Amino acid sequence: MAKHTSWGIGGYADLFYSPKSREGLVSFLSTIDANVPITWIGKGTNILVRDAGIRGVVISTKSFLKGIEKISEYLYRVEAGVTSLELALFCQKNGIGPAAFFSGIPGSIGGALTMNAGSFGMETWDLVKEVEVINSKGNISFIEKESFGIAYRTVTLPFRLWFLSCSMFLSSDEKTTKDNLIELRNQRIKTQPLSEDTCGSVFKNPPGNFAGALIEESGLKGFKIGSASISEQHANFIVNEGGATARDIEDLIQHARQVVKKNYDIDLQPEVRIIGEA
Ligand SMILES: Cc1cc2nc3c(=O)[nH]c(=O)nc-3n(C[C@H](O)[C@H](O)[C@H](O)COP(=O)(O)OP(=O)(O)OC[C@H]3O[C@@H](n4cnc5c(N)ncnc54)[C@H](O)[C@@H]3O)c2cc1C
Repeated sequence: MAKHTSWGIGGYADLFYSPKSREGLVSFLSTIDANVPITWIGKGTNILVRDAGIRGVVISTKSFLKGIEKISEYLYRVEAGVTSLELALFCQKNGIGPAAFFSGIPGSIGGALTMNAGSFGMETWDLVKEVEVINSKGNISFIEKESFGIAYRTVTLPFRLWFLSCSMFLSSDEKTTKDNLIELRNQRIKTQPLSEDTCGSVFKNPPGNFAGALIEESGLKGFKIGSASISEQHANFIVNEGGATARDIEDLIQHARQVVKKNYDIDLQPEVRIIGEA
């Protein structure tokens, strides 16, 4: 899985499936035994895959579900394999928004829906009206936003499902401009290690605080286990310096949690999803 994650880490999946069409996906799911675990991934920018890999099937939307279409004046259907950057650029080109906040999030819309990804004061589900989902039998349905529990980097699903697309409120009232995109990009370049192999923020910010500040004030910037280190530029980022294992990263996550807990009595919660077998 290493080549499918932004950390460049992870053992093999038993089976890796990259659908080419909805029909192919539905027919594939109908052949899978109910006991076989299924894991969906988008761009792998928010997952740590453990070193012994993933049992069962991994379904990737990296080169699938790439459409964006206008439904009505204020509503667009965005498929799950569209990247957040592609959506931001589409909105800029078509003079609609607000979508600039998506531009620096390197994942897919499927991942953004799962994580309620956000930045600069906006979150994915702020824009969502309804989602199109598929279940493990290959049945497709449409579900209103109100059926989901939505919170900061957390989405509670009404049942086991995966996202195929969503309808989003986007309009010319809140245009995404080139200047917006450049400004947000410049802010990120100043504060985040964008040229290194990371997974973005490792921990969620605890209420009223910043995980990065707590880790930095604990003196952990640059702290290293194996080939994984806490970024010198942003303490909530862990860098794979080359050849790091998932074990290195997980140990570093545990270490940072323990130190912050000891210093501030705050239990940091990982934002990154840790999956697979050690
Ligand atoms: C440099 C950098 C900067 C980042 N900045 C931000 C930021 O500003 N804000 C932010 O919120 N995040 C940020 N992230 C984290 C990450 O990009 C987001 O969480 C992104 O939305 C994840 O999308 P993905 O396609 O990579 O998801 P993946 O990592 O592939 O998957 C994440 C989760 O979503 C599930 N999933 C993926 N696709 C589907 C689907 N179609 N249906 C159901 N489940 C699915 C996976 O099973 C997994 O549980 C950053 C990451 C990096 C590397």
